[in-house]
Formats: sequence, structure tokens, C-alpha cells
Amino acid sequence: MFDVLILGAGASGLMCAAELASCKDLKVGVIDANANVGAKIKISGGGKCNITNTEVTENNYLGDENFVSSVLNAFTKEELLEFLHENGLKPVIRKSRYYFCEKSSDEILSIFRRLTKNTQYFLDENILHVSKDADIFVVKTSRTQYQTKNLIVATGGVSYKTLNATDIGIQIAKQFGHEVTEFSPALVGLTLQKDQFWMKELSGISAEVEIDVEGKKLREEMLFAHRGISGPAVLSASLYWKKGNMFLNFLPERDINALIKNSKKNISSVLNLSKRLSKALLDALHVEDKPCNKLTKEDIDNLQLIQKYPFAPAGNFGFTKAEVSRGGVKTESLHGKSMVSKKVDGLYFIGEVTDVTGELGGYNFQWAFSSGVVCAREIKSRYNG
Ligand SMILES: Cc1cc2nc3c(=O)[nH]c(=O)nc-3n(C[C@H](O)[C@H](O)[C@H](O)COP(=O)(O)OP(=O)(O)OC[C@H]3O[C@@H](n4cnc5c(N)ncnc54)[C@H](O)[C@@H]3O)c2cc1C
Repeated sequence: MFDVLILGAGASGLMCAAELASCKDLKVGVIDANANVGAKIKISGGGKCNITNTEVTENNYLGDENFVSSVLNAFTKEELLEFLHENGLKPVIRKSRYYFCEKSSDEILSIFRRLTKNTQYFLDENILHVSKDADIFVVKTSRTQYQTKNLIVATGGVSYKTLNATDIGIQIAKQFGHEVTEFSPALVGLTLQKDQFWMKELSGISAEVEIDVEGKKLREEMLFAHRGISGPAVLSASLYWKKGNMFLNFLPERDINALIKNSKKNISSVLNLSKRLSKALLDALHVEDKPCNKLTKEDIDNLQLIQKYPFAPAGNFGFTKAEVSRGGVKTESLHGKSMVSKKVDGLYFIGEVTDVTGELGGYNFQWAFSSGVVCAREIKSRYNG
């Protein structure tokens, strides 16, 4: 019989197990289908794991603002950095706001392995079903079954199925009467409608843009890809996009009218965009590349779209490419101070399986770590007290 059984040895499950490890009296087990712990951490951030961000607030997340801020404030990015420093990891800041491991994600994985060396791991084992008999949860797996007093569901989302991602967490939540938002791909590239096929010929080039989507403004790089558009700005925009248009500004913090005013230069040379992009944009807007002082009123009207280009995605690249799954267990049915279910005693949901999803930039690991710590601290307080 376990005191605590954690389903999933991903970011949230590992952090939760690491926090619980200081409570020596607790018998803790972790089950995962992968042969190694932290499969997504390992490949994340190009193998260097973008752990968190210099700016983390509830505004960087899709989810209930109060719930998100309660969890993030209970274990902040400063506390996360302190935890990492204490354990010998000094993340480096890239692009002035993203914290990464210096050399490889193994730096953070080895911390979790070390801190949880007395935790029992059951790897290469599929979780099939959960039931509750009186106060005890029974977890049936592909090998055996386990009993536990507290059950923590940390099974993540369904993107990257090759890493054994499943929707078992959603199934457990529903089975025990929780409302869920079905998973959909997020932090994912967007496909093009026919009238935006001009972007295909730009495949491989990137540009700094500002995307205005559902009232959010996201300024980052955008990458033109063969199947559509991608890159950090687009991935974060995919999180918020519901339907209809988002707007692309190819000249963030500049004013197209000021650029063309009184200039005798050709438009393409005053735009200060790459040659291929300015040419493709002008073609798409039906504006001939001519000296600015020769532009007609109609040309000038069309050029305004460089700063507000309406883009309605046809769809997205799907779960195989999505970094996260939007949706999950609705947070109304969880306590924000502990991640425990309001419906079933001893049942917790942490990490990506909850209906909270962050933008690109370390926000999803921060969520996984904060929710993992909040949950573990509540359990420890009950056992210590
Ligand atoms: C390619 C890629 C790159 C990413 N890069 C970043 C990044 O740099 N920064 C960032 O913040 N976020 C990043 N993310 C997102 C981040 O990895 C996740 O949000 C985070 O791992 C979620 O943590 P979690 O513990 O909730 O779930 P996970 O880390 O996904 O862990 C869930 C675990 O549960 C196991 N599991 C699920 N179902 C079963 C079952 N039925 N039986 C047994 N085991 C099961 C899975 O095998 C998995 O190990 C990236 C994601 C991907 C796919």
C-alpha cells in the first residue's frame, strides 16, 4: 500500500515526487509507460529544456486567471530558480527572457533522479484503469495493480504520442465526475487557406512580427514553413486562436505611413524587411514596387495591411507536432491551494492534464513544477501535522 502514487513521471510528477521525498515517512511510487523518466523534458527546448521565463504571470496562460495565479504565487519562478540553484543548476537566459539548461536537459533530469532516489519507480508500465474502494485507490497497469491512499494524476496531454502520451488523465477525471475540456493541439503551426498560399513560397525564412489574436499581442519570430506558418509567435498565437482572423503586423513598432512619407525610394527598400518577404507581401497586397512618392491613395490603403494582415488559419499541424494539449480537467473542480479534487478526497490533478496551458517560453514547465510543488506541500502538511 502506497501513501502516494503518482501517475506519470513527467515534469509535474517528478517535481511532486522530489518535493515529497523530504518526507521520509511517506511511501511514494511513480508509474510511467516510458522506459526513462521525463521523456518530454529530455527533448524539450531543442534538448536544453526551456525551464521558465523572466516574466511569468497568469496573463501568459489560457485558463482561469485566479486559479493560475494562486498556483504560480504558491511556487514562483524565483522559488523554482532558487530550487535549481540549490541543486547545482544555474539556468542561462537566452533571447533576454528564456531560462534554459546550459548544456542539456539532463542537467535538470539528474536533479530529479537524485532527489527521488528513494522513490519507487515503475517504468515501462501502462496505466490502464483506476478505481476507488472505500478510501483506497486501486491502479491497474499492464503488469500488476497497486493500492494507494492518495492518487496524483500527472499524465499530461496527448501531443507527441510517440512518447507514450495518452488521455488516461482525462478518462480518470471523467470517471470520478469532473468536468473536462477535451484536448486540442496548441503551441502548434497553423495551416493556410488558399488565399494565403503566397506564404508557401517563403518557406524557410523568418521575420519578427506582432500577432494580434483574441485581444492578445504576441511579439516574436514567425517562420514560414512548407505547410503553413510556425515559429514562436505563431505557436503562442495558436494557444489563443479560436476562430476567424488573427492579425499579423510585419512592421511591429514602426509606422508604415511615416516610412513612405516624402521618400523617393522604392517601397521594398524602405520597409526594411527581407527582399523575398517584401516582394511577396507587395504582390499579395496588389501593390507595385515603385517609388513611395508615386503611390496612389489605393496603394497606400492596401499598404496599411502590412501592419494588420488578416490571417484566418485553415487548421493546425495536429497533435504530432503540437508542443502541448490545450484543455484538460476544469479547474473549477480543483482547489487552487492544493490541486486536490473538490469531488473525491485524496485525488489530485497536476501539470498539463489540467485545463491550464501556457504560451511558448518555459511557461508550461513552470506550470507543471508549480502545480507539482503545491500538491506535494499539501500532502506533506497533512502527514507532518
Ligand atoms: C517537443 C516538445 C518540446 C517542449 N518544450 C518545452 C519547453 O522548452 N518549455 C516548456 O515549458 N514546455 C515545453 N514543452 C511542453 C512540456 O513538455 C509539457 O507541458 C510538460 O512536460 C507537461 O508536464 P506534465 O508532467 O503535465 O506531463 P508530461 O511531462 O507529458 O508527463 C506525463 C507522463 O505521463 C505518462 N503517461 C501518460 N499516459 C500514461 C499511461 N496511460 N500509462 C503510463 N504512463 C502514462 C507519459 O508517458 C509521460 O511521461 C514541450 C513539449 C514538447 C512535446
